[in-house]
Amino acid sequence: MLDGKVAVVTGASRGIGRAIAQKLASLGAFVVINYNGSKERAEQVKQEIEADGGAAAVYQCDVSDYGKCEEFLKDVVTEYGRIDILINNAGVTQDGLLMKMSESAFDRVVDTNLKGAFHTIRFASRQMVKQRSGRIINMSSVVGVTGNAGQANYAASKAGIIGLTKAAARELAPRGITVNAIAPGFIDTDMTSVLPDKVRKASVEQIPLGRFGEPKQVAAAAAFLASEDAGYITGQVLHVDGGMVM
Ligand code: NAP
Repeated sequence: MLDGKVAVVTGASRGIGRAIAQKLASLGAFVVINYNGSKERAEQVKQEIEADGGAAAVYQCDVSDYGKCEEFLKDVVTEYGRIDILINNAGVTQDGLLMKMSESAFDRVVDTNLKGAFHTIRFASRQMVKQRSGRIINMSSVVGVTGNAGQANYAASKAGIIGLTKAAARELAPRGITVNAIAPGFIDTDMTSVLPDKVRKASVEQIPLGRFGEPKQVAAAAAFLASEDAGYITGQVLHVDGGMVM
C-alpha cells in the first residue's frame, strides 16, 4: 500500500501515465498529475481518481525545460511536503529516416524523453535524499534495447534512459533511493494508434504473446517497483513487452 506517499507522474494526462496515476492513487498515494498541453484530459484524470476515492493534483510543466522542472518540483515539495515516488513517463515520438531527420526532430525527442528525466531526477532527488528514501521509475522502451529503423532519435533517448537509470541507481543507492526502468513493448495508446494497419500487423508478429499490451499492464509493473516489496531492486530494466526481448 502507498498510503501517505506523494507520487509525481509526468505525462499523466493520457495513455500509460494516466494508468500509472490511477493505479498509484488506488493504492493510496497522493498523485501529482503532470501534463504539457492536455489540460482538460489531465483534469479529467484527477476527477476520475477522486471519483474512485483517491486524491490528486494537476500541474502543467514541459519536462524538457530545466527551469520549469525546478519550479514544478519545488512547488510540489512546498505544497505537499515530500516526494516519495517519481515516475518519468512523459515521452514523444517524431519518427523519420536518419538521412532525412531534422536537427529539431532529434532534439525535441531527446530533450523530452531523456533530458526531461534528468531534469526531474535532478530536482526530485534533492528532496528524496533529505528523506533518505525514494523510488524513481523511468520509462524506457523495447526500442531502446533493440533499436528500430526510423526511430534513431527515439531509440537514442530510450537507450539513454537505461544509462541514466543505472548511473542514478548507483549514485542514489547509499541514500536509500531505488532507480529502475520499465521497457514497454507495443502498448495501446495514442502513441501507437497512429501506426498504419500494415505496421501494426507486422509488429504483432514480433510479439511472442501475439498482441499489444494495455496501459494498465505497465502500470502494474510501475506500482510494484514503487512498492515496499521492491525495496531491494535497483538499476534494473523491467520488460513489459509480451516477450519481445528475452
Ligand atoms: P501518449 O499516449 O502519447 O502520452 C504521452 C504523455 O506524455 C502525455 O500525457 C503528454 O502530455 C506527455 N508529454 C509529452 N511531452 C511532454 C512534455 N514535454 N512535458 C510533459 N509531458 C509531456 O504516450 P504513451 O504511449 O502513454 O507513452 C508513455 C511513455 O511510455 C512514453 O515515454 C513512451 O515513450 C513510453 N513507451 C510507450 C510505448 C507504447 O507502445 N505506447 C512503448 C514503449 C515506451 P500532453 O497530453 O499534455 O501532451
